[in-house]
Amino acid sequence: MNLHEYQARDILRRHGIPVPPGEVATTVAEARAIAVRLGGGPVVVKAQVHAGGRGKAGGVKLAANADEAAAHAAKILGMTIKSLTVRQVLVAPAADIASESYVGIIVDRTSQRPVLMVSAAGGIDIEEVAAKTPEKIHRLAIDPRYGLLPHQGLGLALTLYRDIAQARAAADIMQRLYTAFYAVGASLAEINPLATTRDGAVAALDAKIVIDDNELERRPEIAALRDSSADAPSEVAAREAGLTFIKLDGTVGCCVNGAGLAMATMDLVKYYGGEPANFLDIGGSSNPQKVVSALRIITADPSVRAILFNIFGGITRGDDVANGIVQATSGFPLKVPLVIRLTGTNQELGVQILTQAGFSALTDMDEAVKQAVARARAA
Ligand code: GDP
Ligand code: MN
Repeated sequence: MNLHEYQARDILRRHGIPVPPGEVATTVAEARAIAVRLGGGPVVVKAQVHAGGRGKAGGVKLAANADEAAAHAAKILGMTIKSLTVRQVLVAPAADIASESYVGIIVDRTSQRPVLMVSAAGGIDIEEVAAKTPEKIHRLAIDPRYGLLPHQGLGLALTLYRDIAQARAAADIMQRLYTAFYAVGASLAEINPLATTRDGAVAALDAKIVIDDNELERRPEIAALRDSSADAPSEVAAREAGLTFIKLDGTVGCCVNGAGLAMATMDLVKYYGGEPANFLDIGGSSNPQKVVSALRIITADPSVRAILFNIFGGITRGDDVANGIVQATSGFPLKVPLVIRLTGTNQELGVQILTQAGFSALTDMDEAVKQAVARARAA
């Protein structure tokens, strides 16, 4: 689950990280009022969307006074950044930036640990730094038994700042960022830029936190921060239907029971030269309605050229899936070809139901994937 910058800032602030104040506006008048409340001086107006690179997209603008802030808010509200519509702006006092660094923590699968990454080359070009001059990024895998040790934090902070007071401040921020990262169940927490200002202070001017969805159940206060209006509509619909769904960029819509089989299916789609349009696990339950919801979500995606059902029935029953497919396609006719592979529990009954309704069902997974890829390509 993605948080907005203002939500991430609140979390960091609560953990004692220096973050400038700021308030969120949904209208131009509110944005102006906030700028006035902040003293009427220079402010920064920032699009709140679940996307990075807002600065480059024109979603972060400095204003000298409240009037300018209102003018920027008028431009930014309603603007589209990476296909997301901006509905909120954060208005915060503008910092007088002297330098921009990067500090971030991610869960790293390779080391199976949280990895702290810092770079003195922070700011809006950090992706380019990572791609072209990775040696400018210092990494440290944190042992979760001990956390970030003070000398480790200070060691990294000294790669950012020569000034010892600034290095100590940065080390303290890293420690607090790690604590916050753990406390909220994050898979990523980053500050970019971690800025020094002309008066020598160190502060977090941007914050990004991604929460591991599996941590939400035991953190209702974090789960309550979800902004569904900012998520892809297909993912919201899937969540509401109890499906595990992740939208991808390909053309083969996949409807599978079980996460492992869904992963294997996506691998096989790629193996045969196709690209999956989504990850979708209808789960282990026997419920035709889930299949209906799944088909509705997949067919709503205009880039889907063919749909592949891959069902290996255990608890999921073949006849339920077949009924779901028949039910769904009688409700809204499919515009794309459907390839079905159905084996396992109640396979015969399932195939019979499908055949009667004019569908054919395969039992071989390779064959089904090959056909789906071919038909997506032909479409
Ligand atoms: P992002 O592009 O989505 O990462 O948005 P950021 O919040 O990081 O803003 C992008 C860039 O805008 C930063 O790297 C800064 O260079 C600049 N910026 C953001 N806030 C301020 C500010 O308060 N003062 C100044 N001078 N520049 C800022
Ligand atoms: Mn940033």
